[in-house]
Amino acid sequence: PINCEPLKQLIRTVPDFPKPGILFYDITTLLKDKAGFAQMIDAFAAYYIDKHVDLVLGIEARGFIFGPAMAYRLNAGFVPVRKPKKLPAPVAKVTYDLEYGSDSLEIHLDAIQPGQRVVIVDDLLATGGTMQATVQLVRQLGGEIAGVAFAVELDFLKGRDKFPDVDVYSLLHYN
Ligand code: 5GP
Repeated sequence: PINCEPLKQLIRTVPDFPKPGILFYDITTLLKDKAGFAQMIDAFAAYYIDKHVDLVLGIEARGFIFGPAMAYRLNAGFVPVRKPKKLPAPVAKVTYDLEYGSDSLEIHLDAIQPGQRVVIVDDLLATGGTMQATVQLVRQLGGEIAGVAFAVELDFLKGRDKFPDVDVYSLLHYN
């Protein structure tokens, strides 16, 4: 696999965003670097190219940055997983717990045909709650999870442990 480790230098950490005490990993500084962005998409493409992917699902909003570029390279379709009330046709909905309160995600009911092989992508794996909810949506619709992909994984939060039976691939790891 491609070694993305040097790309860490292009990620900016912002203390106390969006709330006091939180250290935010800002990928915009990496995205705007043409070599950095290309290397990330190349790495994702290399990893999934032989895994027979039919669809790439991107989680709103930062999954939308990587998903379409991956889908293009994998000769797959792209499906948006969206915040509530954005999608126009009938949806499946999942609600999941946050630190305070809850959040929901939706997908069009006809977005996945049973048996289609799906990769789900988001920018960052923290606790894993967001991705776990999306995995549930895909399974509800009868999709097969070929893998879940992240640009950044915060290893110390052990989000990966929520996916004992799913292949988890992250380009960059923080301990
Ligand atoms: P989780 O559900 O794994 O706890 O949180 C991951 C979700 O929150 C992802 O959708 C991700 O975009 C967002 N997120 C949480 N912390 C960060 C961060 O430090 N940087 C970025 N870019 N996104 C974050």
